[in-house]
Amino acid sequence: MASVVSIDADLCDNEQVCEAVCPEAVFRVVEGLVRIVDASLCTICFKCAEGCPNGAIELDY
Ligand code: SF4
Repeated sequence: MASVVSIDADLCDNEQVCEAVCPEAVFRVVEGLVRIVDASLCTICFKCAEGCPNGAIELDY
């Protein structure tokens, strides 16, 4: 499934909710900062976008 998930760095406070709620291995905390490591695994379930308290997740699909 083609999809693009991204984190708006201007909005992200590194609360890592996306990494905690994502059922796939899209996010990973690397050296204390949440990163997208494999956007191709995203199933567009919206859990990260709904969970982010800062609205920092962008889903383009
Ligand atoms: S939409 Fe779902 S599968 Fe995709 S990155 Fe967010 S939580 Fe993970």
